[in-house]
Amino acid sequence: MHCYPPGTPLLSLLAGLALLAPTSAEDIKQTPVYARIKAAIDRVPAIDTHEHLRAYDRLPTRVSTPGGTAMTLYSIWSGSYFPWINPLSPWPTNGNFHTWWQDAQHNFDNARATSFYRSMLPAFADLYGVDFDTITAEQAVALNARIVENYRTDKWLHEVIVEKANIELMLIDKYWNRLNFDREYRFTAPVLNVTELMRGSHPDQFTSDNDSPYVFARQRNLPTATLDDYLAVIDTIFTTAVRADAVCLKSTQAYQRSLTYEPVTHTRAAAIYGKAPDAITAAEQRDFEDFMFWQVCGLSEKHDLPFQIHTGQARVQGSNPLLLVDAIAAHPNTKFILFHGGYPWIGETGVIAMRHRNVWIDSCWLPTLSYTMAKRAYREWLEAVPSDRILWGADTVHAEGIYAMTAFTRRCLAEALAEKVVRNELREPHALRIGRQVMRDNALQLFPKLNRMLWRNK
Ligand SMILES: [Zn+2]
Repeated sequence: MHCYPPGTPLLSLLAGLALLAPTSAEDIKQTPVYARIKAAIDRVPAIDTHEHLRAYDRLPTRVSTPGGTAMTLYSIWSGSYFPWINPLSPWPTNGNFHTWWQDAQHNFDNARATSFYRSMLPAFADLYGVDFDTITAEQAVALNARIVENYRTDKWLHEVIVEKANIELMLIDKYWNRLNFDREYRFTAPVLNVTELMRGSHPDQFTSDNDSPYVFARQRNLPTATLDDYLAVIDTIFTTAVRADAVCLKSTQAYQRSLTYEPVTHTRAAAIYGKAPDAITAAEQRDFEDFMFWQVCGLSEKHDLPFQIHTGQARVQGSNPLLLVDAIAAHPNTKFILFHGGYPWIGETGVIAMRHRNVWIDSCWLPTLSYTMAKRAYREWLEAVPSDRILWGADTVHAEGIYAMTAFTRRCLAEALAEKVVRNELREPHALRIGRQVMRDNALQLFPKLNRMLWRNK
């Protein structure tokens, strides 16, 4: 049985084996430089600039089981980005895990290399000790049971997000309740999502009262008869958000329309305002939204709320961040944050930040879209843009997703930095500083209010 010399320390043997592995020569993760940078990045209490975490009793993907409503393995996958490009068998009406797994075990067959799948693996590996690539039926049953158990109280959320993912603060984009700024956890900070209010040419444009400035106005006896009334209501919403400690704005209009926003006049917008959805033309609605976007750029500066804008992967035909450049150039005192690195237009995003000092790049969600492109993006951006203008966020809805995507990002950033260090393109102490900037310091600088909300080491 003993095929190695007695007394050889097991660890050095394992290290030797790792060096012999066929891919190790090209794998930066096998180097001591990577190990040091990764360990340092792991220690940084992160500031996560973009999440959609709801209050514990409102988590969105619970399902019914024989034991009652529960978070299950299905809930974890259905709340992830995996179903965006892969099949996910529906939760069965009998609520039985075995029934589901019988079907669902094959959902992963074509997903093995995709980042939507792989970005979730750190949660199973690190939180549950399960290698999902090789999971057996028995392991799946046990994993599901542990997930159900973990979510019986909100303790699991705190434990995973604060201790395991090492996140100190996260910005919450409540796209389900856009005018609500409550902080459900001490580690969350509110964001004002302006997506819908930029569409408000008429009260009937809103499907949800939660999003409607008209409902907001009615509750406060504010008039909405004219465009100027509406703009005053919007300004009041901004004031309310600032008082509630909202730290920035967020738009996801890239899912609905092109990011080309023309400078439309007040006269033109006033003539359109108040037209019902069945009377307004598509061109008029677009012009109204263009006008409102420019208004919001001005309000962003006025209320010192940097503007997070979803760019890239959405409506692909209209989400290239280059479409925003005229509006960015016209508002030099508004701080624009280009989300998701503009995937797949990461080079375009880099050059916009290179040319405009009022632009920051947020890599949130990017490693989950494509790990390879995210790593390339970090390397390229650090060459084109000062290191204090790159941010990160996980962008998901439950503890496992937040943990996994945070771990995935820390690994990706550590790889990108370590590659520069081994090529002598960057000194190691500088790489460590950049790692800390991206994971934490840049967010504290861009959103100074967050410094008041820090709660660790107090
Ligand atoms: Zn998001």
